Amino acid sequence: MSLARSGLWPYGWSADLERALEATATPGLVPGRVVLEHNHVYRIVTEQGELLAELAGRLKHRAAARRDLPAVGDWVALRPDPRGGRALVQHVLPRRSRFSRQAAGRETGEQIVAANIDVVFLVFGLDKPVNRRSIERYLLVARRGGADPIVVLNKADACADPDAAVAEARLAAGDPPIHAVSARTGQGFEALEACFGEGRTVALLGPSGAGKSSIVNRLIGRNLLATGEVRDRDRRGRHTSVHRQLLLRQQGGLVIDTPGMRELQLWDADDDVDESFADIAGLAGGCRFRDCRHETEPGCAVKAAVEQGRLDAGRHGSFLKLQAEQQAAEARREERALLESRRKGRPQR
Ligand code: GDP
Ligand code: ZN
Repeated sequence: MSLARSGLWPYGWSADLERALEATATPGLVPGRVVLEHNHVYRIVTEQGELLAELAGRLKHRAAARRDLPAVGDWVALRPDPRGGRALVQHVLPRRSRFSRQAAGRETGEQIVAANIDVVFLVFGLDKPVNRRSIERYLLVARRGGADPIVVLNKADACADPDAAVAEARLAAGDPPIHAVSARTGQGFEALEACFGEGRTVALLGPSGAGKSSIVNRLIGRNLLATGEVRDRDRRGRHTSVHRQLLLRQQGGLVIDTPGMRELQLWDADDDVDESFADIAGLAGGCRFRDCRHETEPGCAVKAAVEQGRLDAGRHGSFLKLQAEQQAAEARREERALLESRRKGRPQR
C-alpha cells in the first residue's frame, strides 16, 4: 500500500482498492469515500480532506441502473477541479457489500442506500420481550446485504434477566454473536467496541426506539445524533444538520447511519427466504405440488412435519408471514410498475 494513501487507511482503504483504482487506468484520479449524498451532490473524504463532487457525465451515461451510482460508504475515483470547484466522480470502485431498497418504478430499480459495510448491529430493546420473528427478519436483511450480523440486545438496564433474553434470542439467531448491552450505562460495550478494527465499518439496523442513535452516540463518544425524545420534538433533529452519514470514530473504525438504512424495507429480502428457512425449503421437496405454499394444500410435507413435531410451528408461522408479506410487496411493486408504464405510455398530444 502506498504511503501516500495513509490518510485513507482509517477510512478502510486497502490493497484491493488500490488495485481497483489502478485498473481504472485513468491518470489524475484520486480515491475517496462518500460520507454524504444529497440531491446528487456528494461529500467525499480524500487524502486532501473533504470535498464536494458531482457525477461525471460519462458515469451517469454508463450507469445502466441506479445501483451503479455511488452511495454513502462507496469508494470512488474522482477528478478534483484544479480551480477549487466541484470534483467529478468518474468511477465507483467495487463494493464489498451493499444495502439496497427497491425504488418505485420499473426502470429506477434497485437503489443502493449504503455500501462497504463490514458488520451490521441488529439492535433490539430489552424493554420489550424478545421477538424471535423480528430477529429472523432482520438477519435476512443483514445477510442479504453481505455484512456480518451481530445481534445487540440494548437496554439491558431495563431488563430483569438479560441472560434469559440472550438465550431466547439465540433460538432465532443461530450462530451470530449476541450481546446484551446498555447505551445508558455502557454495560457490555467492550464487545461492541471490539467490532471496530481500523477501517472497519459498522451500520445499525433495527426497529425504531430500540436505541440505535443512543448506541452510535456512545460509540463515537459524542451526542451527535438526536435520540427519541429530541427527535420527536424537532423532526429535523441535530442529525440532519451534521451533514455526515459516515462517521469516523476517534478510537478507530467507522459508523454508517443513513436515513436510507433506517428505512430499509424488510420485504426487499426476497431471495433469502429460502436460504434462511433452509429447513423448510428442504422439506418442500416432499410436497405433492411443486408450487406448494405450505398453507392449505393437500400432501404438504411441511405441514406434516409440523404435525409430527419435526418442525417448530412458530417457525412455520414465521415463514408463512414473511411469504405473505413478500407476495403483497410484489403485488404492490407490479401495480406501481403498471401505473408507471401507463403514465409513460400515454400518447402525448
Ligand atoms: P432509535 O430510534 O433506535 O435510534 O432509538 P433512540 O436511540 O432514539 O432511543 C429510543 C429511546 O430509548 C430513547 O428514549 C432513549 O433514551 C432510550 N434508550 C436508548 N438506549 C437505552 C438504554 O440502554 N437503556 C434505557 N433504559 N433506555 C435507552
Ligand atoms: Zn407444502
